[in-house]
Amino acid sequence: MSMEMQLHRHTLTLSDPLRTAHGEISRREIVTVALRGRDGVTGWGECCPLEHYDGVSMERALLALSRHREVVEGWDSTPPPARNGRTARGGALAAGALGADGAALLAACRAADPLPQALAAIDLALWDRAGRLQGKPVAMLLVDAPAQRVVVNATISAPDPERAAAQAACAAAQGFSCVKLKVGFGDDERRVAAVRESLGANVALRLDANGAWSVEEAVERIRALEPFGIELVEEPTGGLEAIRQVQQRVDTPIAIDESADQRGALTQRVGQLVCLKISRCGGIAGLLRSAALVQASGRSVYLASTLDGPLGIAAAVHAAAALAGDGPLPACGLATLPMFEGFERALAPRGGELVPPGGPGLGVSPA
Ligand SMILES: [Mg+2]
Repeated sequence: MSMEMQLHRHTLTLSDPLRTAHGEISRREIVTVALRGRDGVTGWGECCPLEHYDGVSMERALLALSRHREVVEGWDSTPPPARNGRTARGGALAAGALGADGAALLAACRAADPLPQALAAIDLALWDRAGRLQGKPVAMLLVDAPAQRVVVNATISAPDPERAAAQAACAAAQGFSCVKLKVGFGDDERRVAAVRESLGANVALRLDANGAWSVEEAVERIRALEPFGIELVEEPTGGLEAIRQVQQRVDTPIAIDESADQRGALTQRVGQLVCLKISRCGGIAGLLRSAALVQASGRSVYLASTLDGPLGIAAAVHAAAALAGDGPLPACGLATLPMFEGFERALAPRGGELVPPGGPGLGVSPA
């Protein structure tokens, strides 16, 4: 059936700016997508590129969404004509609970413009609509028995050791079993030492260098930080081959994040863990497909947000709950929504865990 597609742009503000090796983030621009069918049911999705992180500007995302809108509003459920010898339906994901028409529509949008950050918005809206039509939360559309809770990590945003230690103490008191600290700038060793002292021995400490180090720097820094008890280091350097070299020379497990979109990253055994994101995977369907490939390669998957809005976080929590139905995942970086002004209570973890929203669809209201 054809659908009406509306876009709404808005900005979310972080209560405290987040310092990373790429620079400081204080605001997020988000486009919310509403897909309304002739049946009157609306599904919501969101597109939130983060240019200095994923290289995708809002202008580029809006261009992709305008191409997707042409496909969505002209969709009539008959197979689209062949393009370049392949139909747009070729390569459609297994339809599953999204329905054959939803899966085909998503594939047609991908053929019109493959930008994953924009495709994610369409995918989320289609899943939200499917859940609303069936009266089920998305996690229940994905698997028979999703996990009831998803373990999440706290993120330490303060760049100075004293405030970072205070945030870590607060996270430990709230029951988080894992905290994540950005490294690759300033005095990492002092900050890591302060956070570890504040956490005590029983909370996992995860580091993320966002690719800031060279291979030699990464090996040297990780060896220096290992005595503080590090769960894993995410993206110590940039690129699969460089990460492989680091992994061979340190004891701490390595996770790939930014490099997970390089060719071969999902199937080659680089990194012991792979961090997957709704936005970069083009939505829930793309993320589950990527997760299956990573797990088949013998590595672990965990999910994180790109500081997404409420729909992106809810989608990731549903997907994580579906994956965790087979056994717990390493802590996921999805406790980020309360970092935004006005969202202090939205999808807020309790005891270091998030419960997938129980209402139909994604189960949350758009920002
Ligand atoms: Mg990361």
